[in-house]
Amino acid sequence: MTAENRADVRADVLARLPLRDDLRDSTPYGAPQLDVPVRLNTNENSYDVPDEVIAAIVDAVRQQAKHLNRYPDREFTALREDLAAYLGHDLQADQLWAGNGSNEVLQQVLQAFGGPGRTALGFTPSYAMYPKISLTTGTAWVDGLRGRPEVAAGGPGSFDLDIDRTVEQIRRLEPEITFLCSPNNPTGTALSLDVVVAAYEATDGIVVVDEAYVEFARSGTPSALSLLPGRERLIVSRTMSKAFALAGARVGYLAADPAISDALRLVRLPYHLSSLTQAAARAALWHSDVLLDTVELIKAQRDRIVEALLELGLAPAASDANFVLFGGLGDEKAIWRSLLSRGVLIRDSGLPGYLRVTAGTEAETTRFLDALADSLLDDPTP
Ligand code: PMP
Repeated sequence: MTAENRADVRADVLARLPLRDDLRDSTPYGAPQLDVPVRLNTNENSYDVPDEVIAAIVDAVRQQAKHLNRYPDREFTALREDLAAYLGHDLQADQLWAGNGSNEVLQQVLQAFGGPGRTALGFTPSYAMYPKISLTTGTAWVDGLRGRPEVAAGGPGSFDLDIDRTVEQIRRLEPEITFLCSPNNPTGTALSLDVVVAAYEATDGIVVVDEAYVEFARSGTPSALSLLPGRERLIVSRTMSKAFALAGARVGYLAADPAISDALRLVRLPYHLSSLTQAAARAALWHSDVLLDTVELIKAQRDRIVEALLELGLAPAASDANFVLFGGLGDEKAIWRSLLSRGVLIRDSGLPGYLRVTAGTEAETTRFLDALADSLLDDPTP
């Protein structure tokens, strides 16, 4: 049987399986994982884990290996203490919660506060997993609008989250969960805390501020962690997948009122965070200074990308993250393919005329910019 025939047979079987109706038309998360020289499509940290951190992780994991006959501490108490110490802001361990990547944490939030008959709201374009996790948890998803109505789509500022429009949509839709992403993926810009406060005051629901990229924010950008006191429905989520260069370890976390953890405990699977994950995350946190050393290097490449794209006549969005969204492309799909043929994989986020590139090492940035300059020669005019 050919590969095509096998795929057809599978599709037929899937059509007969008693799959949930609401999943019938959905597609799985599928950022390409291709073996090419320059991979700048999933906002990972391009730098390998430094030797001294490898040694600490291996040591911590080795110590745990002996006890793998036992379930892990299902409260991951020591990790929560270390996370609280890392974050500062007077946070206590019981205000922290962690999961296998912040995706799992967000899923738990939707399981606990969303679900059938409930609504989640986000502001498009934003992180593509919000609608996907909403769907799989049976939560109705609403694609909210960013920007001021009078700003032309794609024009400067069109990706900014306008405070009045945000509040109006939240008041009208009364979502149980509102997602604010700061810095926003894929557009790159961080939110002012005024928007977060206004969104919080406009709803009785949960407000999640996803700060997956916050360590890369331009200096002076405040974190929503400072807003937590007195706001029991506010959740700030973070990850070790980006600045900490630990995407493979799958560690994400949130900070919130301790009662949020009590709610999440109702939906999480028992012992969801393995003892190896807990040990690796703790060892990494003890070396956060060394791990976060790469942040400044990456920010420098990000700023270099923005400048170089402007010189190429393109329209990069201002970025507080480790990636840059850029517009001004005639046929973004052709450019994406052309870059790939030159060994450079970046992201097509589905925005017409735009592509997103992760800021990697200096050498990767050079490869990307050279390949882009060559690719643009073939691009039809926008
Ligand atoms: N939030 C945002 C905005 C992201 O871009 C990502 C990863 N791309 C995540 C959350 C999830 O990351 P992880 O599950 O690796 O923590």
